[in-house]
Amino acid sequence: MSDSPLLLTPGPLTTRVETRRAMMRDWGSRDPAFIALTAELRERLLKVAGGEGTHVAIPLQGSGTFIVEAAVASIVPPEGKLLVLANGAYGERMIEIARRMGRAVEALRWAEDRPVEPGAVAYALAADRDITHVGLIHCETTTGLLNPLQAIAQAVSDAGRSLILDAMSSFGALPIDLQTTPVTALLASSNKCLEGVPGIGFALVDALAVGKAKGNSPSLSLDLAAQHQGFEANGQWRFTPPVQVVAAAVEALRLLEAEGGPRMRLSRYQANFDTLAVGMLRLGFPLYLDPGLQAPIIATFLPPTDRAFAFERLYAGLAQRGFLIYPGKLTQAESFRIGCIGALEPADFARLLVAIEAVAVEMGLSA
Ligand SMILES: *Cc1c(COP(=O)(O)O)cnc(C)c1O
Repeated sequence: MSDSPLLLTPGPLTTRVETRRAMMRDWGSRDPAFIALTAELRERLLKVAGGEGTHVAIPLQGSGTFIVEAAVASIVPPEGKLLVLANGAYGERMIEIARRMGRAVEALRWAEDRPVEPGAVAYALAADRDITHVGLIHCETTTGLLNPLQAIAQAVSDAGRSLILDAMSSFGALPIDLQTTPVTALLASSNKCLEGVPGIGFALVDALAVGKAKGNSPSLSLDLAAQHQGFEANGQWRFTPPVQVVAAAVEALRLLEAEGGPRMRLSRYQANFDTLAVGMLRLGFPLYLDPGLQAPIIATFLPPTDRAFAFERLYAGLAQRGFLIYPGKLTQAESFRIGCIGALEPADFARLLVAIEAVAVEMGLSA
């Protein structure tokens, strides 16, 4: 444990030792013990979002992008048309996926620091009757912006269309209730707010939509209808499952329940975020987003104007002290990001701030 760095990233992220320990055994993928583990995984996933009775949980091997690709291919029929609401890199990725899968796709775009507007969605749906499905990114991990899910889901439902929700970086922490929010397919993965290890994505799909998805996907492995049929037939995965990842995910879901569910997890992340944001402002790093748009998942900071600042030096100085921040994907604005999710507490962020201050002094920043 002590030789692992702390990951301040949107995933893979810092996991609890119990979660990693759950991987220390072998499982026969077609053995009853693993079939029971898979059943527990599927039940617990549904419960996190209140999907029991209306939705089915369909896990799939791979990272989060695999489940987005499988969902677009399986839920949007070949003659359908997808409208993607995009205000960041993950919205753009969904557009690219639809194109690759041969689906007609339209994009409605906002700047990276602006939320999706439900009124504009309603207008676009009224104007184009060919659109059958709408794709939304709940928390746009590019910036940490939280899109207004309830109002958008209602607009989509009122227009008689189906919503595909990429809830990758929100599921398990931010509130999502499938009983009150009309969502046809919710997509997420094992290694974000669930605090599992990477290796599986999953879809919570409206049971009626799964029935209609048969034969839609042009891919053999990225086919949610076939994957679901496999689980229903014998409780088994169609192709080799990442058995240790499944064991870790089940342990992580038990730990989520023990923590008090998504509500308590969110309050821990909020405390992490608040500690970080207040301390960073004091060190001369303001937040990029308007606070009202920001989810406590990942924080995007503007660098100081001081020319002594270099992100690479900040990254390396923190890595040397055992903290890995997020070096990837800078947005259009000059900025950098620090994740607030994972098995981390406000005390970890207090230590991080001490380290950031030390690196700032090394760089010669005038704070
Ligand atoms: C992480 C993430 C994904 C999936 O990314 P992978 O690298 O394939 O796991 C998709 N959408 C959002 C919003 C994400 O945060």
